[in-house]
Amino acid sequence: MAKESFDFISANKEYVFNTYGRSPVMLVEGAGLRVKDSNGKDYLDFIGGLAACPLGHAHPALVEAICKQAGKLIHVSNIFHIEPQIELARLLAENSFGDKAFFCNSGAEANEAAIKLARKFFSEKGAADRYHVITMQNSFHGRTLATLAATGQTKYREGFEPIMPGFSHVPFGDYPTLEEAVTETTAAIMIEPIQGEGGVRIPPANYLPKVRKLCDDRGVLLIFDEVQTGMGRTGKLFAYENFGIEPDIMTLAKGLAGGVPIGAMVATERVASAFKPGNHASTFGGNPLSSAAGVAVLKEILSNGFLDRVRIMGGYLRSQLEDVAAKHNCVKEVRGLGLMQALDLKIPGADLVTIMREAGVLVNCTSDTVIRFLPPLIVSGAEIDEMIIILDASLTKITG
Ligand SMILES: *Cc1c(COP(=O)(O)O)cnc(C)c1O
Repeated sequence: MAKESFDFISANKEYVFNTYGRSPVMLVEGAGLRVKDSNGKDYLDFIGGLAACPLGHAHPALVEAICKQAGKLIHVSNIFHIEPQIELARLLAENSFGDKAFFCNSGAEANEAAIKLARKFFSEKGAADRYHVITMQNSFHGRTLATLAATGQTKYREGFEPIMPGFSHVPFGDYPTLEEAVTETTAAIMIEPIQGEGGVRIPPANYLPKVRKLCDDRGVLLIFDEVQTGMGRTGKLFAYENFGIEPDIMTLAKGLAGGVPIGAMVATERVASAFKPGNHASTFGGNPLSSAAGVAVLKEILSNGFLDRVRIMGGYLRSQLEDVAAKHNCVKEVRGLGLMQALDLKIPGADLVTIMREAGVLVNCTSDTVIRFLPPLIVSGAEIDEMIIILDASLTKITG
């Protein structure tokens, strides 16, 4: 058995682009939070596909929806009306600030669409010179050329210059600097309500409401990148609901179809109407298979008590992490919201990830020192307890 996984890992080196720092593990099946690797070793999955698996693995309702749709139609083309896509758009509109949805295949594509829509919105008004988008330092919006320009981390841009013009970055949470950065050429402010990849960072209280007011006062569009924070992750269906305000445009992806590739841009009618037939498109965007998966996921998350449970489990995970943090000097801070939690360490996190994986728990390290917990939203208290015991022991092991 060990030989089999060794062969795959060698073949990966030989045949697949070397763009990921992959773990030496190949996961082959799962159910709920449990996943199994090619050697038969079990793990508890607190990465959850980096927030793309809100229902965990092999969730019966999602499997059934995918199988049923695959047996009918996997793909047609956006030349035709697509029943599950219309149903998904209706569910998103009825359960968010938005009126309309556009579908694509990833977070980066959803953000591309949002940037294009912001530009088109002002060009329709005869203000084509108003195309500038202000984003946050330490943000993450994707890896395409426009979303790299939007992403406020230079390390991702090196070697890909020239960077697309029309973007500037201000410190996340610093309102006066943002206010000063808005000019006559500003089309939009684009923000992750909670920075994910940048280290699970929560904005100061009142920051987002002040940003909303700034946008209203200056006629600027507010784009929330909820690719990671959306779909129940923070205990609300969308993270903006925690802050008592609404954006003009929101982007979704990751959890939207429970691991089937999809992205979406949701916007108010006022903004959405700037896109006319032919202005934007995607071959696979919102195809029957991914949309049917999205409908199944959304219905599950909207089902009675689901989000209450996310809030309860989020609170429990948080309190358990705080208890562990209090016992270990190497933990600088615990932060997060709902089932998006993190331990910021005083030391690099890579070794802890390895030790925990060997002990049977999968967690992710981002921003060098931040251990990120993005479990499927169906996580149980017992699974949190099991993870916490291994986390505690692993921290002891690492610091002696
Ligand atoms: C993951 C992520 C993206 C990029 O999504 P892809 O599907 O990888 O293109 C964009 N924004 C945020 C906030 C993300 O977490």
